[in-house]
Amino acid sequence: MNRLLDHFAGELEALGGQRRDFLEIGRRAGRFPSALARLQDAPSDVEISVWCSNDYLGMGQHPSVLEAAKNAVDAFGAGSGGSRNIGGTNFYHVLLEQELAELHGKEAALVFSSGYTANDGALTVLAGRAPGTLVFSDALNHASIIDGLRHSGAEKRIFRHNDVAHLRELLAAADPERPKLIVLESVYSMSGDVAPLAEFADLAEEFHAATFVDEVHAVGMYGPQGAGIAAREGIADRFTVFMGTLAKGFGTAGGYIAGPADLVDAVRALSRPFIFTTSLPPATAASALAAVQHLRSSEAERDRLAANAGLLHRLLGERRIPFVSDESHIVSVFVGDDAQCRRASAILLERHGIYVQPINAPSVRAGEEILRVAPSATHTLGDVEKFAEALDGIWQELGIPRGGVRGA
Ligand code: PMP
Repeated sequence: MNRLLDHFAGELEALGGQRRDFLEIGRRAGRFPSALARLQDAPSDVEISVWCSNDYLGMGQHPSVLEAAKNAVDAFGAGSGGSRNIGGTNFYHVLLEQELAELHGKEAALVFSSGYTANDGALTVLAGRAPGTLVFSDALNHASIIDGLRHSGAEKRIFRHNDVAHLRELLAAADPERPKLIVLESVYSMSGDVAPLAEFADLAEEFHAATFVDEVHAVGMYGPQGAGIAAREGIADRFTVFMGTLAKGFGTAGGYIAGPADLVDAVRALSRPFIFTTSLPPATAASALAAVQHLRSSEAERDRLAANAGLLHRLLGERRIPFVSDESHIVSVFVGDDAQCRRASAILLERHGIYVQPINAPSVRAGEEILRVAPSATHTLGDVEKFAEALDGIWQELGIPRGGVRGA
């Protein structure tokens, strides 16, 4: 008997131990998120269409991105050879940082191996160094933000999600002399709703707080040149630091911050997840750079994503299939029951060849289970119609309650 192994066997059982055949999904999913291409060696002629990919714009398959990766592999090989400070900084890391700083209109940018480590590493430093720093954090902030703030050791106040009045109360109650940092997202990862950024910027200015905005689900997709929601609102200069990922709209991997040079240099010098790990492979940096450059000049992908998301919002609305927010391309279809959510996902896969992973606790609170649907720029309007029809049939069959836009 091994008590540790026994513990985890029991734990998994309690979690419902969903084991999905990811190998099969991976084999049969087309090369594109919409799975329009048919894999030659697929065991069945039914293709799986993926509706939960974060490669929202299809940049992971874009010819210019693939070509950049291939050229960089030929020129520099497969790996970076070291950490950023010891042998692992390549030409492409530097170009990518310059491009990202320009995209956000900031003095400097710093690239990490992932968005998770960018949030964790940057917030540990930015919230943790100035004595007495008080952090104000949105209640729905991502796990990587929560972990970074924990690692900083800073005292924090949590404001209700997107609640400007609550944040005002908390700021007004705080000692005016203490350094302050407000941390929020622009498009929220699980609810898909958008922060009222202008009102948060007003508060930050009134109470002399620095701001850190996670635009992970917005960069590439919104704003001029894909610079995000703050840029769309024309207020990017009112925020201190932007954080983004290269793994979603930009279709590759890696994360970054962009902000004032002094802050970026401090993070570069002090952040352990930046310093003590191998840097991104040059080909990843090169392909991310190609994706950022492409999306700075092309509107086509953004337009297609907006059209697909808009149609999905309308079709779900007409069928009274409840979803959390119609403010972005993240369409969190509300099920509100663990077993029903798994069942709906299984029927989508088995009968319709549509893959949407059910989102259960701890990613969302128990009783708030969702199908987090992400239409992509590579789906067609016809795909969106078929998807909405499939959901409608499942709602009917399983008797899942209907409703409208719920709010987060
Ligand atoms: N921030 C948010 C809001 C996210 O949703 C995620 C990932 N889902 C991250 C940060 C981490 O990004 P990455 O996947 O690049 O590590």
